[in-house]
Amino acid sequence: MKTYQMWIDSQWVDPSSGEWIDSQNPFTGETWARIPKGAAEDANRAVEAAYAAYDKGEWADMTASRRGALLRKLGDLIAENAEHLADTEVTDNGKLKAEMYGQMQYMPEWYYYYGGLADKVEGANIPTDKAGMFNFTQYEPLGVVAIITPWNSPLLLATWKIAPALAAGNTVVVKPSEFTSASMLELAKLVEQAGFPKGVFNVVTGYGPDVGSALVEHPKVARIGFTGGEIGGVKVYEAAARGLKKVSLELGGKSPNIVFDDANLDNAVKGAISGIFAATGQTCMAGSRLLVQESIHDEFVERLIALAKTAKMGNPMDMGTQVGPVTTRPQFEKVLSYINIAKEEGATCVLGGKAADRPECGDGWFVEPTIFTGVSNNMRIAQEEVFGPVLSIIPFKDEDEAVHIANDVLYGLAAGVWTQDMSRALRMTKKIRAGTVWVNAYRVISYMSPFGGYKRSGIGRENGQEMIKEYLQVKSIYINTGDIANPFVLG
Ligand code: NAD
Repeated sequence: MKTYQMWIDSQWVDPSSGEWIDSQNPFTGETWARIPKGAAEDANRAVEAAYAAYDKGEWADMTASRRGALLRKLGDLIAENAEHLADTEVTDNGKLKAEMYGQMQYMPEWYYYYGGLADKVEGANIPTDKAGMFNFTQYEPLGVVAIITPWNSPLLLATWKIAPALAAGNTVVVKPSEFTSASMLELAKLVEQAGFPKGVFNVVTGYGPDVGSALVEHPKVARIGFTGGEIGGVKVYEAAARGLKKVSLELGGKSPNIVFDDANLDNAVKGAISGIFAATGQTCMAGSRLLVQESIHDEFVERLIALAKTAKMGNPMDMGTQVGPVTTRPQFEKVLSYINIAKEEGATCVLGGKAADRPECGDGWFVEPTIFTGVSNNMRIAQEEVFGPVLSIIPFKDEDEAVHIANDVLYGLAAGVWTQDMSRALRMTKKIRAGTVWVNAYRVISYMSPFGGYKRSGIGRENGQEMIKEYLQVKSIYINTGDIANPFVLG
């Protein structure tokens, strides 16, 4: 069993509470690590350290080019340690090694990309309407950024915030999920190795209401980057409003994956299956509502069931496993309760619909890949985020009805459209109210492209070039270059 410490002010420290949280392996159900149970006192210490590093000293004086070099160095270290980081995440959150290893090998790109952008943010020489005045702008960091993240892709989702925040010259305090903190503490070791100055990067572990809310309430935190559920998101937004802080929220989804009868059905079947069962359905962008055109509905459902039945469940460390356990015990129970709700609502369970009792699943928290047909869009199973391997299939007649059903939810994170008619694809991409739309693909993301939600799926975007400005503020500087008697005139 591993016992972790927190990383505050470039030192490994015990929690002030003297208490630890047991972290379980979802495949075995056994405690494999102890995570410090941080408290407000620890959060405050981390913010003070981060503020001091932002305010003056080596980091505050560092050129943007040097910051970029440090980020690229960190990217190299992540690449070298990709397997170790992946193994830590798989042990802690039960996601597939096959996926997490790929994710860890891809993750350095965020540090290379934002490292490259660090010294390419340019202010402007503003044309002046005032004789003798020279006016220019420069971009400056915001200060201390609090980063609060969930358990489903612990390092990647934090990286979406850490890389642009540091590239912009801020300092950060990261609060990973209490269920999956180990990998962030492993990353802190690499940050240390990369040579970031004291206090620039801090990790405080513990529960949201203890550590998370202490961070968002702290007057020296200038910006909050939050990924998580709606309830926590709203609390963070309220606290940010009270403190007049900048905030981005990446929240939940109930994304439609829409299959038209002219689609390449082989690809669409695979896209629908991986859209919901990859990561055991525990992704914000899961294609949890499958909208299928009536004319192909029965045939498509048959093909889906046939493919889903072949899914290999079992040890997530095994590179051949396709569906792993649910990450946490409470989440496992939540998924099963939604399956019951769907049955009570009158949906027809055509596959799965229960906890898995296959020998290869051991004592892990496994739910059988589950498919419901006969779902109408007003059922709770079609409206609420399950965050598990549960697919709801909803038939539609034509394009208009598909758009209506797709948009008839509170969320708007992502959507998939399967058709070979590109005019239809373009019409659909325009009409769907979601931050990302894939055509003949699903669950594609990139460090170069904005990602975020419409409606209750969130506020703000992550990734892409514009993101760095989300972590900067602009200053306008006027210089009186001549002998102007009264430079204070407005006109
Ligand atoms: P969660 O909201 O329970 O927790 C997320 C983080 O917020 C955790 O670190 C938690 O400790 C912290 N937190 C909770 N309450 C807080 C409070 N009052 N103040 C400050 N911090 C608080 O979410 P979760 O269950 O860990 O993750 C699952 C959710 O995350 C799902 O709804 C999923 O859709 C969402 N998610 C969204 C995206 C996206 O990019 N849109 C990506 C992944 C996950």
